[in-house]
Amino acid sequence: MRYFIVIGNPISHSKSPEIHHHFAQSANIAISYERQFCPNDKDTFMAVVQSFFKGGGTGANVTLPFKQIAFELCQTFGQLSAHAQTARAVNTLYLKNGQLYGDNTDGIGLCYDLKRVLAWHNLGDLTGKHMLILGAGGATRGIIAPLIDAGVAHITIANRTKERATQLLNEFAIYRSKLSQASFEALGGHFDLIINATSATTTGQALSLPKTLSTDCAYDLMYGKPSAFLAGFDKPTVKQDGLGMLIAQAAFSFERWTGIGVDELDLPKLLNKQFK
Ligand code: NAP
Repeated sequence: MRYFIVIGNPISHSKSPEIHHHFAQSANIAISYERQFCPNDKDTFMAVVQSFFKGGGTGANVTLPFKQIAFELCQTFGQLSAHAQTARAVNTLYLKNGQLYGDNTDGIGLCYDLKRVLAWHNLGDLTGKHMLILGAGGATRGIIAPLIDAGVAHITIANRTKERATQLLNEFAIYRSKLSQASFEALGGHFDLIINATSATTTGQALSLPKTLSTDCAYDLMYGKPSAFLAGFDKPTVKQDGLGMLIAQAAFSFERWTGIGVDELDLPKLLNKQFK
């Protein structure tokens, strides 16, 4: 038996145990994967992580609000993957050569799901796409590098607080030629893809986007409830929520922990089920 947890606050809503048990069943291995509530403070989070791995745990997922604390923990006491370093956030923890190792699979999970959605609707690949990302928080930080690595031609970032987008662009100066910033008010025209990476829709708030904005594919990272962002687009725009990203990032975590690759799991079947 291998032991896994997902640490968060709140955590009771998490779908991760179901998703990982599905993977384990496909791979024919025995696992226990539990939700782990943690009070919202750094010391308790560190104690939970330490006791889990000391007790023989194989891997942990980290969700809100602990991704940045997990990053700091690995930065101080362990090691970080390149994706975790650019994101400055960790969603996957395990031991590598006896040391705590932090990775971030959110960005590659999103790319995997976007490729699937685009292919399903005959909209090509990510290569050469012009994208708009709304929001400049932790999720945006985690997806920029994987999207550019996947061949996206240009990303425009618009954030309610303009200074936060400016700061993000400065941090990603290495990608300067592929990134730009726009204010919400100045948005307009057509983008191949528009991603909502704000948390507005999680609290049921609408984003006031100009009517002249259009896209082939609108994708909300949020999942599990109706999205006012997606509702703002009419056909033929493809509309997709972030459940596929959640499942795909989980598959990449599972791969890190077990060595069982995403191609060996029935991931495409699980993801495509959403369209049937
Ligand atoms: P975060 O770091 O707290 O950032 C929140 C962002 O939302 C900021 O850019 C903030 O703008 C913006 N925002 C909040 N309310 C807004 C409003 N009313 N109007 C305009 N902008 C608003 O959150 P995060 O970690 O980036 O997460 C963002 C979303 O991604 C959440 O819904 C989360 O659930 C989702 N997510 C999904 C997955 C998945 O697997 N599907 C993975 C990761 C995240 P300001 O800077 O102006 O405050």
